[in-house]
Amino acid sequence: MSSARIVLAVDNLSVSFDGFKAVNDLNLYVEQNELRVVIGPNGAGKTTLLDLICGRTRATAGSIKFKDMELTRMPEYERVRRGIGRKFQTPSIYENLTVLENLEVSYPRGRTVFGSLFFRRDAAVMERVKEVAELIYLDERLDDAAELLSHGQKQWLEIGMLLMQDPELLMLDEPVAGMSVSEREKTAELLTRISSNRSVIVIEHDMEFVKRIAHRVTVLHQGKMLAEGSMDHVQADPRVIEVYLGH
Ligand code: ADP
Ligand code: MG
Repeated sequence: MSSARIVLAVDNLSVSFDGFKAVNDLNLYVEQNELRVVIGPNGAGKTTLLDLICGRTRATAGSIKFKDMELTRMPEYERVRRGIGRKFQTPSIYENLTVLENLEVSYPRGRTVFGSLFFRRDAAVMERVKEVAELIYLDERLDDAAELLSHGQKQWLEIGMLLMQDPELLMLDEPVAGMSVSEREKTAELLTRISSNRSVIVIEHDMEFVKRIAHRVTVLHQGKMLAEGSMDHVQADPRVIEVYLGH
């Protein structure tokens, strides 16, 4: 492994649900500004892994360290505050609010002058809104209600809402599912740009998409790591072909 800083260190991580080990003695190390893609068959434990890292699910054993802080007993909101953002498969945006308002309400409250009592549309918030809106291709749609957006644009908006909090680690579960070809292209560009100054973990099935964005790929199978490395490396691994790529 290179000398780059490890932002996320997962060691011997396990979780069992009624004796069934969905994640089984897993090790995973993600570097600063790395874009890691996690692939694997349905039921491999990919979503559960993100649940463990963000705090939605408690580990049965093992350790999760984020910038050398032990996370395993830290509540979910505290992990968000420390810089971990998580996007779920279905977008959770406020359909009735405008794009601008969706981004605005996602700005961390502690940073505004009046805290959570009053929301002041101050210069710092608006500057960040504009920056993020441009990044997610929605700068022309700021005043439109979110419900008017396409499925892909809604996904981008949710990514934008997470970016408002400027997370150091951003995790996305199947972000391009249901997107058009051109939306996939733009999402690949978006994720590449996002990872220039943060670490990103993406779960994805679309191999063309994975090839375009991944710095490294981790293949999960039955809660364990089956292979890891460059796309070319994992694609050539006979075990990966057998359990995942072969069909
Ligand atoms: P993937 O995202 O790779 O498709 P998941 O992480 O969603 O897989 O699920 C891994 C396995 O763990 C599956 O067999 C799933 O049924 C099981 N599982 C996930 N969450 C729970 C839970 N809360 N309770 C019981 N079983 C679960
Ligand atoms: Mg899943």
